Amino acid sequence: MARTVHIIGAGLAGLSAALDLSARGDRVIVHEATAFVGGRCRSYRDATLGMTIDNGNHLLLSGNHAALAYLRSIGAEQRLIGPPGAEFPFVDLASRERWTLRFNDGRLPLWIFDRSRRVPGTHALDYVALARLLWPRAGKSVGEVITCDGVLYRRLVEPLLLAALNIDPPHGSARLASAVVRETLGAGGRACRPLVARDGLGPTLIEPALAALQNGGAVVNLEHQLRALRFGAERIEALDFGGDAVVLNAADAVILAVPPYAAAALVEGLSVPTEFRAIVNAHFAIDPPAGQPPILGVLNGVVQWIFAFPSRVSVTISAGDQYLDTARDVLAKTIWNEVAAATGLPDTLPPWQIVRERRATFAATPAQDAKRPGAATRWRNLALAGDWTDTGLPATIESAIRSGNRAAALIARQSA
Ligand SMILES: Cc1cc2nc3c(=O)[nH]c(=O)nc-3n(C[C@H](O)[C@H](O)[C@H](O)COP(=O)(O)OP(=O)(O)OC[C@H]3O[C@@H](n4cnc5c(N)ncnc54)[C@H](O)[C@@H]3O)c2cc1C
Repeated sequence: MARTVHIIGAGLAGLSAALDLSARGDRVIVHEATAFVGGRCRSYRDATLGMTIDNGNHLLLSGNHAALAYLRSIGAEQRLIGPPGAEFPFVDLASRERWTLRFNDGRLPLWIFDRSRRVPGTHALDYVALARLLWPRAGKSVGEVITCDGVLYRRLVEPLLLAALNIDPPHGSARLASAVVRETLGAGGRACRPLVARDGLGPTLIEPALAALQNGGAVVNLEHQLRALRFGAERIEALDFGGDAVVLNAADAVILAVPPYAAAALVEGLSVPTEFRAIVNAHFAIDPPAGQPPILGVLNGVVQWIFAFPSRVSVTISAGDQYLDTARDVLAKTIWNEVAAATGLPDTLPPWQIVRERRATFAATPAQDAKRPGAATRWRNLALAGDWTDTGLPATIESAIRSGNRAAALIARQSA
């Protein structure tokens, strides 16, 4: 009899595990607590703006190989758009300078030696200090490994690490920063092309995955929250969904792909990250000006990145905890003034929406990073997945998808 793998949580970690196991021929049932799929990476119909928007702007890089493989497997790779090369336009709101960082394709960082490609105001030798981030000692913070000051830091390292780690970089884990630098700048421009889901996260990352799962015979149960696991000595014996319970056969398995606080409530004694950082997004219903790049880095403002979508301009503020209690209209106006200055759009505030995700990611400090568990548990038919498990990466789409791949591989090996 074919065994059943129950996947708890339909975020990207759960979906990627479900796709892998379904492709192997396992019977897969996904159980999602809410009425929607995608978790922290989703599109929704926004009544205020009268359009479908993403809960937050998500940026991928061409070096995110697991995310790209996931997209290929669901036939959606073409739905990501980006420039042909690794280009990052920036504007500095304080000095009004504008420049575009252009990494060369190969691993040898020739762009560092080219004034027209590197960060203005820096010299080739400044970049040598970054090498210290490549192989840091365990448990160190970024601030303990490199000097978090100076032009190169403010114009390259800070925006890169703030976006990737979602934490004020000096407090971030050097191990996680190192993984980001190795897999992006260190891997050459071919790994650094910025990619965005122009038509939304749902149509790109979520709906094609659901279609692929359903075509493969997998079942997705929405509004089906796992309330408790029944633990035997060596295996999970049953799943309790409140109204109904599922008793597991000897060969059945479970992948818990829920956020860390939900996992900790279900598995006593599980070590999980307990601190989080917010991400604030502002969305404005307005056509971006002609020639506006898909993403623009902003320095010396509240705004960090401006994304241009059809009929919409959106802003991302990582580690935005300080803006969680700011009045929404005040925040919208502040952000819009900066967008107008950066893009040349009129000062008049267009229809807007602000989405504040309080627990967008775990806090990527060395101490929180040390709390991340691996995929295996002491129950042989229970594996863990999620961007917060110990993937060696900060909490990103790539981390979530790799964690799902890894949990699926673990469960697959156990049945082999
Ligand atoms: C605003 C924002 C911007 C971001 N920007 C980027 C970016 O630019 N680039 C990038 O790579 N990453 C970005 N991220 C991070 C990325 O979205 C996450 O890393 C990824 O979506 C996490 O996926 P996950 O499956 O691990 O977790 P989740 O998406 O949290 O999925 C967990 C799922 O489990 C469900 N669940 C919880 N409890 C139960 C239960 N008891 N029973 C059943 N189901 C349950 C939840 O409802 C949820 O659907 C961003 C995140 C946010 C919030």
